[in-house]
Amino acid sequence: MNALFGGILALLQGFATTFGFFFQKKPTIAYPSIKKQHAPRFHGLHELRRYADGKERCIGCELCAIACPANAITVIGAENTPQDRRSPGERYAARYEIDELRCIFCGLCEEACPTDAIVLTPRFEMSDYRRGAFIYGKDRLLVPIEAGVGTAPDDRPNGIPADLGSVAAQKSTVDVEQGYGATWRGEILKTERKGLAG
Ligand code: SF4
Ligand code: SF4
Repeated sequence: MNALFGGILALLQGFATTFGFFFQKKPTIAYPSIKKQHAPRFHGLHELRRYADGKERCIGCELCAIACPANAITVIGAENTPQDRRSPGERYAARYEIDELRCIFCGLCEEACPTDAIVLTPRFEMSDYRRGAFIYGKDRLLVPIEAGVGTAPDDRPNGIPADLGSVAAQKSTVDVEQGYGATWRGEILKTERKGLAG
């Protein structure tokens, strides 16, 4: 008999614990429709910035590649010409690639860059089935002109990238077909682009 009461008591205690949590605020969120706020200095995917006149900030100096402890950056510079001036300097990055699988998101590339061209954003969604899809070239790193210039790392109040969200959001609508073709996120973006999102 004692064992029976003991069992019932244990059951009731278990239910009490369950109901106690039932009415509490849930710690889980409905990701991806709801996203948690990052820590202010969160390091996510990179962006290559432009000046206000549209020229690329990157001058192809390779300092970011030298500073990178993960050997994740490849820069191949080329000379600007009067007919084809991409950056204010003598050179620009003809090829710029970051292997985001090698990257440890330390931010040293951002620190090393003399022109505030490469910055880390709060974007973190980059899942894919193909390893090659994680090598981000200029087509995905360079922000489109219409996305604005963003805030250079040194100009951020307390280092907080105040306006990166809007820049990142606009960039997310670019190169979706090519860059995110095989990803779930890419499908969402493609749907949004076609105006089919609910
Ligand atoms: S964040 Fe660090 S590891 Fe990643 S590309 Fe920049 S320097 Fe390399
Ligand atoms: S991103 Fe900055 S450090 Fe890297 S090559 Fe361009 S200008 Fe140089």
